[in-house]
Amino acid sequence: MQQRKKIVAGNWKMNGSLAANAALLDGVLEGLGQPACAVVACVPAPYLAQVQARIAGTALALGAQDMSAFASGAYTGEVSAAMLGDFGVAYAIVGHSERRQYHGETDAKVADKALAALAAGITPLVCVGETLAEREAGQTEAVVGRQLAAVLEKLGDQASGMVVAYEPVWAIGTGKTATPEQAQAVHAALRAQLQSAGDAVAAQPILYGGSMNAANAAQLLAQPDIDGGLIGGASLKAADFLAIVSAA
Ligand code: PGA
Repeated sequence: MQQRKKIVAGNWKMNGSLAANAALLDGVLEGLGQPACAVVACVPAPYLAQVQARIAGTALALGAQDMSAFASGAYTGEVSAAMLGDFGVAYAIVGHSERRQYHGETDAKVADKALAALAAGITPLVCVGETLAEREAGQTEAVVGRQLAAVLEKLGDQASGMVVAYEPVWAIGTGKTATPEQAQAVHAALRAQLQSAGDAVAAQPILYGGSMNAANAAQLLAQPDIDGGLIGGASLKAADFLAIVSAA
């Protein structure tokens, strides 16, 4: 069987400045070389041009943190997939729990965004994950299964173009990482669900996100169904991010 692609994607969230980004990129690019996995920086929209120019000719790929489900027109404040494509964006996070929580994004909206990304040639990084209350109620697999089902249904044959990221909400930015066993169990369930959509869909990587850092990355990435990471806090420190890239 062909080995699944590995991806380590940094999610800078709403952090950075022209000066801070330049310093961070200098640090990352200095140590990056030719990594064994795909490496992505998902940056705030105003900095796309800055990062695009700086990473030209390097192994670092450009990502966005969100995008509109609409193609163009009267959608004040929105950024379309085609606009992202103009800046060389190859990946877009869709359905991050912070978008679901603070911006009311529904499973259906997330699915629409994933479809719009694919239509523009951008790989959607589709985030799914349960809250602590949902985990404690034993609903983890039901919740992530529902979130993923909405996207699979909408994408149909195109689902082989997406990448899923499992991000338990209780682990995001909290320093509380899922144990490798907890994460693997959910990844295996997600893999089985992807498999029901076909071999090509199941062959796509599934990333883990939620307080992944230089110290815990290797153990998480050693799990059979964890194919990379979506990294928040640790992506803002070049040395930590590079350590995770090396572990993948
Ligand atoms: P974290 O964020 O690594 O800071 O927990 C991950 C994410 O939200 O993608």
